[in-house]
Amino acid sequence: MKTFILYIESAPDEIRVAILILSLALLWNAENLTADYNKWQHARRNALFILTAAPVQFLLGTAFVAAFDWNQQHYYGMLNWFSFKGSLLAEFFTTFILLDFFEYVYHILMHKYRFLWKFHIVHHSDPVVDVSSTLREHPGETCIRLLFTLLWVVICGAAFWAVLIRQFVQIISNVLAHSNLRLPVKVDRIVGWLFITPNLHHVHHHDKQPFSDTNFGDVLSIWDRMFGTFARLDAQQIQFGIDTIACPEELSRFDRLLMIPFKSMESSQTDAGQMVAESKF
Ligand SMILES: [Zn+2]
Ligand SMILES: [Zn+2]
Repeated sequence: MKTFILYIESAPDEIRVAILILSLALLWNAENLTADYNKWQHARRNALFILTAAPVQFLLGTAFVAAFDWNQQHYYGMLNWFSFKGSLLAEFFTTFILLDFFEYVYHILMHKYRFLWKFHIVHHSDPVVDVSSTLREHPGETCIRLLFTLLWVVICGAAFWAVLIRQFVQIISNVLAHSNLRLPVKVDRIVGWLFITPNLHHVHHHDKQPFSDTNFGDVLSIWDRMFGTFARLDAQQIQFGIDTIACPEELSRFDRLLMIPFKSMESSQTDAGQMVAESKF
């Protein structure tokens, strides 16, 4: 285990990129069997977000290194409350569960606050959901997400190796969740008890509330069950996208997608206190 951790720590970026490319490629080929839209055109547009995410990830990478160093020197963070008695597995699973819960909280905040939602809406604006949708993230959201993760890492006092292994699991899970391959209903009922499946994440991408405000989980679905945000919806009833974006041209050009957070929006609160954003393009 220690040798594995040393290996992980020495070549993290290469492994992460390799896992992302491999999982995207494998599912991309499987998806082709069922696609009834222009997959290449759709993927090309979403892949452009790699170009805007890369500099943000590069810049914040140094902040992560500083945070891990600081944690190591100061023994700060929630994980120091636990006694793992040298068990790296126990330390990993505790880190995993804490970070997954924080990701759930982060995702809810992205939906509830208008300033954050204006960035997250770019991900939700995809009119079809497939593995390439995993890449569709506004660079503003990439920055916000990484800053949140940085905060969580410091609050948890998480070890570098544990965060990296969690990221590998997270990448595979996120690509799978966006795949247009759905699990058979019976299998989904079992797997969905613990994990966010494609069937469950598709509900989150439904174009209307309250379904777009459900299934916020990242890897685990247990938080949605615990806090009452879990929902199921039949595939035939799911319509991807955002019902408040009336202008389809906004969704077909990369430069216009980047401008979405900076356009004016009107918002109002429903009786349930949920934010309904109406785009005025
Ligand atoms: Zn969302
Ligand atoms: Zn998504």
